[in-house]
This record gives sequence, structure tokens and C-alpha cells, in this order.
Amino acid sequence: MLTRSRSWDKTAEVVVIGYGCAGGVAAIVAAENGAEVLILEKQPRETHHTNTSMAGGSILTPPDVTTALEYMQALDRIPGGGTRWTDDRIVRAWAEYSATGKQWIESRGGDIFLSPGPAEHPQLPGGAVTTRHRFKGMGIGIARFLDDQIKALKVGVSYETRATHLLTNLRGRVIGVEARAVENGQTRTVRIRASRAVVLAPGGFEFDEVAKLNYLRVYPTYFTGSEALTGDGLRMAIEVGAQLWHMNGLSCHFAFKFPEYPFAFSPDFPGRTHIRYVKGEEGVPICSGSIVVDRDGKRFTSENIKAHALSYELTNFDTHRLIYPRVPSYFIFDRRRLENGPLTAVTSGPAGPVRLYRWSADNGKELEKGWIKAADTVRGLARKLGVPADNLEKTVARFNRHCEKGSDPDFGRRPKELIPIDTPPYCAMLLWPGGPSTYGGPRRNSKGQVLNADGRPIPGLYGCGELGCVFGMLYPGAGGHIAECFAFGRIVGENVARERSRE
Ligand SMILES: Cc1cc2nc3c(=O)[nH]c(=O)nc-3n(C[C@H](O)[C@H](O)[C@H](O)COP(=O)(O)OP(=O)(O)OC[C@H]3O[C@@H](n4cnc5c(N)ncnc54)[C@H](O)[C@@H]3O)c2cc1C
Repeated sequence: MLTRSRSWDKTAEVVVIGYGCAGGVAAIVAAENGAEVLILEKQPRETHHTNTSMAGGSILTPPDVTTALEYMQALDRIPGGGTRWTDDRIVRAWAEYSATGKQWIESRGGDIFLSPGPAEHPQLPGGAVTTRHRFKGMGIGIARFLDDQIKALKVGVSYETRATHLLTNLRGRVIGVEARAVENGQTRTVRIRASRAVVLAPGGFEFDEVAKLNYLRVYPTYFTGSEALTGDGLRMAIEVGAQLWHMNGLSCHFAFKFPEYPFAFSPDFPGRTHIRYVKGEEGVPICSGSIVVDRDGKRFTSENIKAHALSYELTNFDTHRLIYPRVPSYFIFDRRRLENGPLTAVTSGPAGPVRLYRWSADNGKELEKGWIKAADTVRGLARKLGVPADNLEKTVARFNRHCEKGSDPDFGRRPKELIPIDTPPYCAMLLWPGGPSTYGGPRRNSKGQVLNADGRPIPGLYGCGELGCVFGMLYPGAGGHIAECFAFGRIVGENVARERSRE
């Protein structure tokens, strides 16, 4: 928004919008490089929760630049041709900084440990040897790590200050931010001057229904992170003429959504399988039978769910019946799974350490609320769901036969997951397309500068983090976003500190 006024309520050399991982890292690096930094954060300090603090705390840690580059280029390629979403200079910048992310964190006292297993797509070049680390304390551990640095560097954080407009001068340079700030219980408009640059790091548009409807491939889509991510940054960027990219990209699997809460929950399909082992049978996980079916009561994918790419399967639209047959889908299980621990993830998301919701250990509270449907027979369950009963019966019977034989020729579930669904009550939960994040937002270059419609940098404006992140076709897997926040946070922090301060 063009401003001619010279009156300002506050001034800083660098103003950062959003205090998540990306904004925090950018602020730290800019301050370490001598800039005076102010962070604007829309939430109150006491209840501040971000996608970062709700995250599982994984961070992708490619072993070297060549591997990082190779893997990222493969992820970015549209199948069936050579077309790529993201130009090589930015992919290289991501690779260089991601490959050194671990050292950067550890050199500042960050406590991270190696997670077992390769990246999400080990079949792609570089995927099998790309590792992940995890922050101690998970997402909250990251937020604390950043907060310690921010305090040590005496970076100011202005809570309850929601940025609403980027302010530009006559030459189109971003010179400040207009915000709605709560002071002494009153909300007022404030103007904050940025003499070097503004950093846009307010997260994605997971809770902006209009943006989701217009940009994502399938609707509705529900997200498991902070409901503060209402697309403010997208609107601010559009207003100053930013070019957008990666708009239909999202990390997507399934989500539970209940009307009582704005945020969604991630299903935990197997339950305690992850962490508990049958006594006396070392290494044999307690498994519980479950499948996912579509609106016709039929399986359509391996329930060994692809963590972040499932949106591509859920967008399947039936042009004859004019429905999305997989929206919603249904999670079908029996007493075994019901009694095998919380049906949602409790290590991240709203039922994780941020405790926006306390999911009961035996799922009893959620059964009572009607979030879980139950019936004595599969047929009865199908009726409750409005799914063709014959189909659901046939699907469950076929799956149970696969379990007897120990192999799933339909979708290749692993033998240890083939536990029959045969112990009433039979249960179901609605599954919606959803997950942790959107990718789209203002396009950046390899310095983190936000680009205009002609591909030239908008002077004074930088971006990092989930809003306009570098991922296009495929997400690298657990840890990709946080690695990106650290990479582009550092890149942006270094570059804003190089900007000269304008009087
Ligand atoms: C349940 C869950 C688990 C996840 N697990 C992982 C994982 O293990 N590894 C991984 O890499 N990624 C994970 N992700 C994704 C990852 O957490 C996010 O992509 C990343 O943390 C985004 O960081 P950010 O700094 O861009 O945004 P955020 O951390 O969300 O921070 C954005 C901040 O901006 C503030 N803000 C918004 N609008 C304004 C405004 N107008 N003015 C001022 N402030 C504003 C918000 O209040 C918020 O504090 C997970 C996400 C979720 C939801």
C-alpha cells in the first residue's frame, strides 16, 4: 500500500512479520550480522502457538550439497517430461543451506538427534541417503531454541501486533508495515518503519477458506497446525504486486475434522504399534487391523499412507457422477484399534505437546462425542456412514482373507499390518484431505527477495518459510519444511543485513 505519510509509531532496520521458525531464524541471523530487528507477531505471548511449535520437530539433513541438489531436483520434476517448477538457482541455494543446517543448529546449542530411516522418497536420486534429525522437545523444542537466541540477541518481539499492509514509497520500495496492535487492551492501527527491509514470514494459508478454495486441487482441505495461519501474508504480498508460485502445492494426507475446533487432527492409523511391543515376543509390534475406504466402501490405496503426497490421490473426480469419491474417505477399524491408544497423533498437532485438545487415552471421550461411529456389524456401520453396505462387507471380508494369507495383492500392505477386522464393535471415522501445510505464496529468488510479476525483486521485501516455500511437485518428506525455514531464514537474514539503511 502506497504511503506518503512520514509519521511512524516505531522504527527498526529490519521488520520481520511472524515469529515462527522462518521469522525467528531470519531475525537471529540479521541481528548477528549487526541489524536492529523487530518481530511483529499477531498472537499474544501467553497463547502463542505456531506450525513450528505444533510440528513433530523433524528436520531434513542432507549429507552434502550434491545429494541435496540431486534429491530436490528429482522432487521438483513433473512426471512424464523434463518440466520443473523451481529454477536451479533457488534449488541450489536450498541445497547449500540445507546441507549445513545441522552444523548451524548445533553450533548454537540446538539439541538434535538422528531419526531412523531415509527420506520419504528413497526411490528418487539422493533420497535413500538423505537423513532426518529431530529436535529434542519436538516443535516446542525448536520454538524454545529460537527464543533463547532471540532473547540473547535482544531482538524485540511485538506480540498482539497483526501486520495488515506492506507500506511502499513512490518507487515501489517496501519501507514499512501497517499493523493492528493491542495496547492496554485497545486495538489501534500502528505504522512501523523498516529502514533496511521487511521479511514476510507469517506461514501459509491453511485457515483462509477463500484461498484454499481457489488454489488447492481439492476442497475441503483441513489442516492440523495453527489457526493463526489465515493467509495474511498472501494478501499483503498480492497487494504490493508479488508474483505467486507453488499455489496448488500442499503436504497432504488425511485429517479428522470436527465442527467444535478450527484445526484438524492427524489420524494415527496403527496406534501404539509405533512404540509398544508384545511382551515376550521382542520385535513384534502390536498391530491393529484397519483400512481406508472411499464413499463406495472400496479400498483405493495402501493404508500405509504416503505421508505428504496423498492429495494427488484424493483429487480424483468422477466426471460421470460429479463427485469426489474419496472426499470424505472412511477409516474402518474394530475393537483392537479402538483399544490400542489414541486414534490421533499425540506427538505433534493439536493433541501434541501444545495441548490445544486432550485426546482421551482410550478414545472414550471421542466415542461419546460421536467423532467415532460404532456398530455391532459391518453392515450396521455402513448404514451409519451412508456407504453401500454390500460393498463395505465385501471389502472387509476380502481384506480379512488377505490377512489369513499374509499378503495384500490389492495394495501391498506389509504382512505385519495384515490384522483382520473381525472384533466388534466395528468403527469408522471420516477422513478429509488435509495435513500440515500449504506451499504457495510469493515467489522468491535465491537471496529470498520477493519477486514482482516481471520476475524482478520488489525492493525492500524478503520472504522465508512456508509462505511461498520452494517445494513444488513433491515434498521431500518429514523435516522438509523446518529445513527450508532454517535455510531460507539464514539466507534472508544474511541478505537483509547487507541492505543499506535508508533515512
Ligand atoms: C502437526 C504438524 C506437524 C509438522 N511436523 C513437521 C516436522 O516434523 N518437520 C517439518 O519440517 N515440518 C513439519 N511441519 C510443517 C512445519 O511445522 C511448518 O511448515 C513450519 O514450521 C512453518 O514455519 P513458518 O515459520 O513458516 O510458520 P509458523 O511457524 O506457523 O509461524 C508463522 C507465525 O506468523 C504469525 N503470523 C501470521 N500472520 C501474521 C500477521 N499478519 N502478523 C504478524 N504475525 C503473523 C503466526 O501467528 C505465527 O506465529 C508440521 C506441521 C504441522 C501442522
